[in-house]
Amino acid sequence: MNNQILQLYAFLQASCGNWRNAIWIECKSCLYENQQCDEYLLTADRNGTPLVFSVAQFRQLTGDMPVKDECIAVLSEHAFEVLYSSWLLWNTDWKNGCRLRQLAQGKGSTL
Ligand SMILES: [Zn+2]
Repeated sequence: MNNQILQLYAFLQASCGNWRNAIWIECKSCLYENQQCDEYLLTADRNGTPLVFSVAQFRQLTGDMPVKDECIAVLSEHAFEVLYSSWLLWNTDWKNGCRLRQLAQGKGSTL
């Protein structure tokens, strides 16, 4: 099955089927990319593992339009990296660029 669909299913399952239960993460000044990054939705699975989904990809796959102000919280990319610093160290590769983007692309996930 398409990995994007599996990621979407895992994300929706972890967020009780509603993007409003996720945290909106802005990656405005991406530390790794010399370009405009994306916005992401964050939730956690039953083990506390972060599940990150690109807002643009979510819109494309579902037709639903997540709104920042309706999410349970808004977090900066920096705050996310500090919060999950130990987990990111072991599950992502800093050489591959933006960690949010890596997670949104399924790298570092257990799927
Ligand atoms: Zn980024």
